[in-house]
Amino acid sequence: MKYNIKNYDYLIVGAGPFGVVWAHEVAKCGKHSLIIDKRNHIGGNMYTHKEFGINIHDYGAHIFHTDNKAVWDYVNQFSEFNGFINQVVANFKGELYDLPFNMNTFYQMWQVKTPAEAKAKIKEQRLAAGIKGPAQNLEEQAISLIGTDIYEKLIKGYTQKQWGRLATELPSFIIRRLPVRYTFDNNYFNHRYQGVPVDGYTALFEKMLASELIDVRLNIDFFSKKKVFLEEFPRIVYTGMIDQFFDYQFGELEYRSLRFENEVINCNNAQGNAVINYTDAQTPYTRVMEWRHFDGQGDAKKTILTREYPQDWDLTKEAYYPVNDQKNSELFKKYRKEANKLEKVIFGGRLGNYQYYDMDQVFEVALETVNNEF
Ligand code: UDP
Repeated sequence: MKYNIKNYDYLIVGAGPFGVVWAHEVAKCGKHSLIIDKRNHIGGNMYTHKEFGINIHDYGAHIFHTDNKAVWDYVNQFSEFNGFINQVVANFKGELYDLPFNMNTFYQMWQVKTPAEAKAKIKEQRLAAGIKGPAQNLEEQAISLIGTDIYEKLIKGYTQKQWGRLATELPSFIIRRLPVRYTFDNNYFNHRYQGVPVDGYTALFEKMLASELIDVRLNIDFFSKKKVFLEEFPRIVYTGMIDQFFDYQFGELEYRSLRFENEVINCNNAQGNAVINYTDAQTPYTRVMEWRHFDGQGDAKKTILTREYPQDWDLTKEAYYPVNDQKNSELFKKYRKEANKLEKVIFGGRLGNYQYYDMDQVFEVALETVNNEF
């Protein structure tokens, strides 16, 4: 069967941000693309839909944040963004703390009132834990940054649930995603630009794909016709799992998955915040989102809560996070080497590059790679 009957210039595998940027940008240069996705919707894990007029992020909270003005201006072409600033509250066995780690947290934990007092407390705990030299794992990194008390109450249990392994078995960079600041500032991110698209991410992607030069076909699994696709398309942008592309020839990379449970409640404010993290080890979910607080839209008499449960990944589940520990990073390098040999195929996105990217990084890398194309 001839698949490329329209003589597309590109086959794009995956309608997430990397693939959609490529489709949009090559269309601007007059190139045709066919974008396929095995799911029944566009947007990848950024997909949103409305219920009772409230935007729900089906694959967990996606708050766009960046320091890159070019990326911010780029996404703002396709949607207005609201001014949402993420300010997460942590619940540890009924005790509430502000996140990320800042003077409010330090006051709530130790009643310290000045940056000097907070720094002294953290230093005391770091020395008592006997941590010297560069951190070897997430636990050591956390204790050396914010001390043992905060590690025990706000990080240890959450991390173990999130990753299904101990903090001593995880790379230290994961905890450095979270700011540590000696000011009373609860902004979860350090970036200058932040927000959520007013009509949700799906509308943003629909706008990016609105071109006669782009065809979108959903419910198509690349692997059902991999050989035909590789033969017939002159250029392929692949954003699925890199190990699967190479038939797992060096072994399987590990991923972490999530599942979500939604609850509709007849009131307009159930938890008082967009995100509350449950940081103990026993509560089976890691966080609860209340979507109306992301943009204040929708039916005033209803609210929707989503509980996020981490779970082991297998081929029947969605891969959300790469596990960038040493073992998997070594394995990824082998696949990357194979990928570099394939001139026709570009690998991108969280799964194609096996990187714990934020959304802005995916846009940035997609724009960089597509700019190299012409
Ligand atoms: N983390 C934690 N406690 C929290 C929030 C985060 O220990 O209350 C740790 C955890 O290991 C997590 C990492 O910090 O995987 C990164 O958190 P982030 O919120 O950036 O994760 P994401 O939103 O990407 O799932």
